[in-house]
Amino acid sequence: MSLMKSFRYFLPATNLVFGKGMLEGIGAEVKKFGKKALLVTGRKSMKKLGFLSRSIDSFEKEGVEVIHYGEVMPNPTVDTVNKGAKGAIDNNCDVVVGLGGGSAIDTAKNIAVVAGHFQGEKISIWEFAGVHDKPRRVTSKTLPVIAAASTSGTGSHVSRFAVVTNEEKKQKIGIMSPFICPRLSIVDVDILSCMPLSLTSKTGFDALTHAMECFVSKRSNPITVLYCLNAMEVIFEYLPQAYNRGDDVEARKAMAVADTFGGWALVTSRPVLPHALSHPVSAFYPEIDHGVALAALTPEIMRFNIERGDEQTVNKYCHVARMGGEEINSFNRKEALKSVKVVKRLLKKIKLDVTLKSLGVEERSFEGIVESAFATMRVPIEANPVPVTREDILNLCSRK
Ligand code: NDP
Ligand code: MN
Repeated sequence: MSLMKSFRYFLPATNLVFGKGMLEGIGAEVKKFGKKALLVTGRKSMKKLGFLSRSIDSFEKEGVEVIHYGEVMPNPTVDTVNKGAKGAIDNNCDVVVGLGGGSAIDTAKNIAVVAGHFQGEKISIWEFAGVHDKPRRVTSKTLPVIAAASTSGTGSHVSRFAVVTNEEKKQKIGIMSPFICPRLSIVDVDILSCMPLSLTSKTGFDALTHAMECFVSKRSNPITVLYCLNAMEVIFEYLPQAYNRGDDVEARKAMAVADTFGGWALVTSRPVLPHALSHPVSAFYPEIDHGVALAALTPEIMRFNIERGDEQTVNKYCHVARMGGEEINSFNRKEALKSVKVVKRLLKKIKLDVTLKSLGVEERSFEGIVESAFATMRVPIEANPVPVTREDILNLCSRK
């Protein structure tokens, strides 16, 4: 592996509190950043499982006033962010806390942007989206964000990305700024152990794709590579275990560490084609979750990249296969294809072996998906180790 090209590396900016029962201390941590918090969650799970009330108790114990905004749904929208931001502005909140999966944490980050930049005018998170010629800049006015992760997949608890969907335009985009990196993240294994089977598999596969994609990415660097190799090895080994035995604390911890490494890989490299296409797939079909779209797209894109990739890319896919437990005898295209095999094997084990067709993605939406990808996901398209045209992508979508 050639590691000698020039690169820029910025230390990941999030502090971590990691372990069993750590949510208990959320009030004391948030108190360091403000007196009045907007607590952002999804609609049901955190309430039902008791983590919402535990958090509120912890805030109250520390004298932090808390306003709960519990309306986030998977694939959160511009309206959901703007409505939450209004709550933060009207209540003069000085810190935003995301308790939940990537959707709640991303929404907390985006609310922090809107509320922090509000100066009495009408304001929307969409002004900050990189689809415009001159998007509004995210600055240090952004309110501080604290996260408590309830899934192991997106890496959002340590990343400088926050995804939002514009339903009208059918565009799903990541706002990117160092100012939205959570100042502190709590990773409490008790919350992660509550994930049901399908959530474990789709979020775990998301984490694996962060590691695999940032590894083969044109934007990878020697430091990213370390995160990626470690995350891949751990996920191939522990994801089936976490899936089969949800209360296996060791497996949950392992997946949480791999998720964190995947997030740091995203921060220091860039994902490639599966992510570039999974966003528009979910924008067109909001019922298809991020990790599920990735499961449908990843194997064929890997095969495509191996068929057309240069020597370094082929070598990297051989390393992916190795991380998945395959023996690699020499570094060539045939051996590299073992990486597709290990990924497919994993997808079977975690009952996620789906295709675009089996998910109900219709051929007539392929062109729209490709256009949306070029409008919103140029960086991942350009970071793909093999250059791709619109036609290549259309062909890829049609592969079975
Ligand atoms: P979500 O946050 O969308 O949560 C999915 C579902 O799982 C929700 O219905 C939620 O319920 C439920 N849930 C969450 N945690 C638990 C738990 N511990 N136990 C039981 N149920 C639970 O899932 P993800 O974490 O996969 O986030 C996906 C989003 O993150 C997508 O929008 C994706 O694009 C984005 N993303 C962001 C990245 C980033 O860097 N910022 C990177 C990759 C993806 P309820 O809503 O009731 O709480
Ligand atoms: Mn992802």
